[in-house]
Amino acid sequence: MATIQAIEARSVHQIQSGQVIVDLCSVAKELVENSLDAGATTIEVRFKNNGLDLIEVQDNGTGISPENYENVALKHYTSKLSSFDDLSSLHTFGFRGEALSSLCALAEFHVITAQANQVPRANRLDFETSGKLRRTQIVAGQKGTTASVEGIFKRLPVRRRELEKNIKREYGKVLNLLHAYACISAGVKFSVRNTVGKTKNVVVFSTNGNRTTKENIANVYGAKTLTALIPLDLELEFEPSAPMRRASGGDTQSNQLVVKGHISRPVFGEGRQTPDRQMFFVNSRPCGLPQIAKAFNEVYKSFNVSQSPFIFADFQMDTNAYDVNVSPDKRTILLHDAGALIESLKASLVQLFEAADQTVPQSQV
Ligand code: ADP
Ligand code: MG
Repeated sequence: MATIQAIEARSVHQIQSGQVIVDLCSVAKELVENSLDAGATTIEVRFKNNGLDLIEVQDNGTGISPENYENVALKHYTSKLSSFDDLSSLHTFGFRGEALSSLCALAEFHVITAQANQVPRANRLDFETSGKLRRTQIVAGQKGTTASVEGIFKRLPVRRRELEKNIKREYGKVLNLLHAYACISAGVKFSVRNTVGKTKNVVVFSTNGNRTTKENIANVYGAKTLTALIPLDLELEFEPSAPMRRASGGDTQSNQLVVKGHISRPVFGEGRQTPDRQMFFVNSRPCGLPQIAKAFNEVYKSFNVSQSPFIFADFQMDTNAYDVNVSPDKRTILLHDAGALIESLKASLVQLFEAADQTVPQSQV
């Protein structure tokens, strides 16, 4: 029989990193979230060759302090969480301390960073594949951080080939994700650029650092989009389902949450041909909520059979009411008592759409 032995540390790192950074979207998501966590008000995302050659995110956030250089890309080193107990009251996007270490394992990764008191000097940090700091160099730079990822998945050849084959589709998905971050981030000036072949540095989309998500939506999708939208402003209250009541030891406190955002009027001509512009957030964190999306689309179709709505919906709720720590890439969010929530959501949407004929479109507010 073969001997049971530990996998060598390097291989474990590779295996785990491939679960944190699963695709192009994960790269953009992790870097943009780090910029937002660093309090940035300007974020520029740059792609070369749709991200195959380079994905780079530059921000004007706090920068990284020199005493943290050694630890910044080490696995499970984070400035955002120190114990499991903190997880339920989390207000940052990151907390697992895995993104940068994973990028070191999967690509050529470096950072240029400066805190306010260092400018016009910045430091370029290069790392080993393990995430260990290889060297620091003084370079010129502004306040903030630029993280650069070159040749993503070059150390996972199968995934690299898959990505090359599907790059158009993958790039499209990244843009959709960045639309969501740009729209939800009021007060942050976002811009996205891409260089493909000789067409240099084309601005793909940008926002102006607006105060409202509505203005961000106008920047990203065009001002005309707003004419078909009505405000989404729901207060949901629902009794916990029987299993949840049992799990909480008979405590029958009702759940409350609000849903804020914008949605198409349920009138023919005001929806969209395909469900391509639907963004969901939990406490401003972009996430996929497939069951919730299904509920929205079902109710909308009962008013406008042949179209799908534009949806921008932020579920604002107690941080105890969900779990983001379900998968290493943090894209799956587990909502406690989703069934009861969805029933309540559907009923509220029906009311909203029934009243929508009297609702003034957002463009006229
Ligand atoms: P996490 O975000 O879960 O903490 P990361 O691997 O994404 O883990 O980042 C590790 C640490 O590096 C962060 O906790 C933060 O202190 C620092 N960091 C990463 N990106 C930035 C940035 N853009 N600006 C400032 N600090 C950053
Ligand atoms: Mg992070």
